Amino acid sequence: MLEGIVIKSTGSWYNVRRKDTNAVVRCRIKGKFRLKEKNLTNPVAVGDVVSFDLETDGHGVESSGIIHKIHDRRNYVARQSPRKLHEIHLLAANVDQTVLFSTIVEPTVKVGFIDRFLLMTEPHDIPTVIVFNKKDIYDKVALAEYDYLKNIYVPIGYKTLLVSAVTGEGLDDLRDLLKDKTTLLAGQSGVGKSSVVNTMQPQLDLHTGEISDYSGKGQHTTTFAEMHPLSFGGYLIDTPGIKNLSFNNLEPMDVTHNFREFFQLSKNCRFGGSCSHINEPGCAVLDALKKETISDSRYQNYLKILDEIGDINFWERNE
Ligand code: GDP
Ligand code: ZN
Repeated sequence: MLEGIVIKSTGSWYNVRRKDTNAVVRCRIKGKFRLKEKNLTNPVAVGDVVSFDLETDGHGVESSGIIHKIHDRRNYVARQSPRKLHEIHLLAANVDQTVLFSTIVEPTVKVGFIDRFLLMTEPHDIPTVIVFNKKDIYDKVALAEYDYLKNIYVPIGYKTLLVSAVTGEGLDDLRDLLKDKTTLLAGQSGVGKSSVVNTMQPQLDLHTGEISDYSGKGQHTTTFAEMHPLSFGGYLIDTPGIKNLSFNNLEPMDVTHNFREFFQLSKNCRFGGSCSHINEPGCAVLDALKKETISDSRYQNYLKILDEIGDINFWERNE
């Protein structure tokens, strides 16, 4: 049996990079295997370590492989499936960090999206860097907005970077962050993720990862994540632009425990880790909100997410 890392998944085929030779083998999984984890839309993710056997065709040529085993994941980044509310879609597995691409202008920054993204990486403590691109077109107001956001995210432990794919500013710092690590790249489309990567690594010539295939029902577009090697060491896992993130796959407590600065404070809440920080007496988060030592915009986004996934049983004791 051979071992390899999944570098691309296109639905039923997986490109696997062999550990021994680095050659890429197209692999499939067996039918049975698919049924094991019911709430996953994709059983195998980019970054997964797999064991596989080569298949030979009638002429003894080894052309493809069969995956027999997915090794335990060190971590993963998963989102709620955009189509099936209670299923989750694995974006990638076994990453060292994630980089969330954003911009203050063109398109206007969506702080709600940043907080939602962090809610995906926090359960596994995956370090996240927020990169703000397009610095070349920021005016004074936009630069002030960047400083404002930096002052929200840096104190709670997320790095921020200000870069421009056009002038190259900040890209040396980004390169230092990426070197020798496996990094998931994500962002809403249009923020310039591909432009930044192509400026840094022109040989990758990132296409957006979108391919169109023709299904019986008509034209439909499917998008896939893909892992690329970096010339200076390390790997990028580029993911398709994300439109929006919902969390019907989560319980309210998963949200409560994964806004990291709120969770840290919760040890001082009267109800501790079971405090929802909404209206409980002796709540340290509400206290901090009053004293403005936590961010109001983070708190509002927190409430909004809880509201969306609202579970009546959870809130009963607060009535
Ligand atoms: P992606 O969807 O995040 O991969 O975004 P693209 O790389 O396709 O870029 C979206 C648009 O933003 C394109 O029109 C780019 O030319 C533009 N863009 C990307 N980076 C920059 C930048 O640093 N400055 C400016 N002014 N425009 C940029
Ligand atoms: Zn509380």
